[in-house]
Amino acid sequence: MILYPYKMSEIQNIDLAITGAHILTIDETMKEYKQGSIYIAGNRIKWMGPDTEQPENFVVREKIDASGKIIMPVFFNGHNHASMSFLRGLGNDLSLDKWLNDFIWPAEKVMINPDTVYLGTMLSVIEMIRSGSGIFSDMYFFEDQVARVCEETGMRGIIGEAIFDFPSPSRATPQESMQFTRELHSRFQGHSLINVSVAVHAPYTCSPDLIRQAGELAKELDISANIHLAETTTEIDMIAGLYGKSPVQHLYDLNFLSERTVAHHSVYLSPEDRQLIKDSGTSVVTLPNSNMKLGSGACAVGELIKLGINVALGTDGPASNNHQSLLREMQQLARLERVVNYDPTSISAQELIRIATINGARAYGLDKDLGSLECGKKADFQIINPDQPHWYPRYDPYNSIAYAMQSNDVESVIIDGKIVMRNRVLVNIDEKRISKELKKKAGMLF
Ligand SMILES: [Zn+2]
Repeated sequence: MILYPYKMSEIQNIDLAITGAHILTIDETMKEYKQGSIYIAGNRIKWMGPDTEQPENFVVREKIDASGKIIMPVFFNGHNHASMSFLRGLGNDLSLDKWLNDFIWPAEKVMINPDTVYLGTMLSVIEMIRSGSGIFSDMYFFEDQVARVCEETGMRGIIGEAIFDFPSPSRATPQESMQFTRELHSRFQGHSLINVSVAVHAPYTCSPDLIRQAGELAKELDISANIHLAETTTEIDMIAGLYGKSPVQHLYDLNFLSERTVAHHSVYLSPEDRQLIKDSGTSVVTLPNSNMKLGSGACAVGELIKLGINVALGTDGPASNNHQSLLREMQQLARLERVVNYDPTSISAQELIRIATINGARAYGLDKDLGSLECGKKADFQIINPDQPHWYPRYDPYNSIAYAMQSNDVESVIIDGKIVMRNRVLVNIDEKRISKELKKKAGMLF
C-alpha cells in the first residue's frame, strides 16, 4: 500500500513539467521568474512560479530540467503566404507591382495546386518552428492544405483563403472564396490549433462591394478579417485615382475597419489615416523585410505605438522576404526603426518582444489564450539555450533576444501543450520525406 502525504482528491495530474528555467512571461507587468517552473495539464498552463514554491501534490508524467535555459512565449507570425516558399527566388530586384504582375501571378497559375501548397507550407513551417514561431496567419489558396500541415506538425495556424476580384488558382470567383471561408470556419470551429480569418487581398484587387461583403462575413462569423493596406505609393495613387481618397479612408467608408481587422504593411498613412486606424481599433502588422526588399518604404511603428495602435509583426511570404524567422524579422525591425527615425530610443527591446508575441495574439483576438505565459493560458512557448558565445555577458535577456539571439538557439518548442521540437529535432515531421518530395516536385516544375 502506498501512503500519500495528502488526500487523493488534492492530487493534480500534470502532463509536462519544465523546471529551473529563467521564465519571461511577457504578461502585462513583464513578470519574470529567474529560476522557475511551468506545469502543463492538457494544453494549458496549470501552474507557474519559482522553483522553490513548486506544489507537492502534482503527479508529473514527464519532467524536463531546463536549468540555465530561457523560456518565453513562441513568436507570433502575424502575416504569411507560407507555401510561397515554392516561389522563393523567382523574380527578384523588382517593385511590388512588377514582381506580382510579371512573375508571381503567372507562376501561381501553373505551379500552385493542393500538392504544392501542402509541400510549400510544410517547408515554411519547418523554418518557422526551428526559429521559435508557434503560430502564423496565412493568406493564400487551398487553405485546407495549410490546415492539414498544422494538424500533422502540431503548428498553430490562422488560415484565410485569399479573396480578390479575379479567379484564383483555387477558386473561379470571389464568391466561391467567400463560401470556402464559411466552409473552413464550420469545419474548424473549436479546433485546438486552427482558427479561420477572412483574408481580403487588397483595396486595389477587390471591388468596394466585395470589401464590404467580406467585412460583413467576418462580423457574421465573429472572426478576424485581414488585408494588405497602404503598402506602396502605387497603391496610394491608384486608390486616389479610383475613389478620390486614401486606401484607409476607403476601407473605413466601406465599414471594413474595426477591432477585428488586421491591416498588413500600413506604410503610407496620413495623420488622418492613423486616427481612423486608432479610432476603429484596427491592428497593424508590420513586415519590415518584405518592405525593404521590395523597396516599398517603412511603417512608422514607434509612432503608431505611441498613438495607442496595436502593432504586431510578420514575415510575409517567403518569396518576398525571403526567410521565415520572426526572430530575424524583429531584429531587423529594431534597426530599421532607428535608421528611419535617427533615434535609438524610438522602440525598446521589451517593446520589440511584445510586438513579436502578445501584440500578434491581440491583433487576431486570441490574447485570452495566447501571446504570454500565464496560468490558464495555452502552453505555447520556446525553450532557448543562451549558453552560446553571442549571448555573453548576459546583462539583460530582452536585449540579447532583440539584438543577439540566433534562430539556432531555439532548443525546443511546445505548442498546445505538446513538444513539437525537442532538442532541435522536429518530432512530428519526417524532414527527409518532405525534402525528397519537394525536390521531386520542383524538378517537375523548373
Ligand atoms: Zn502579404
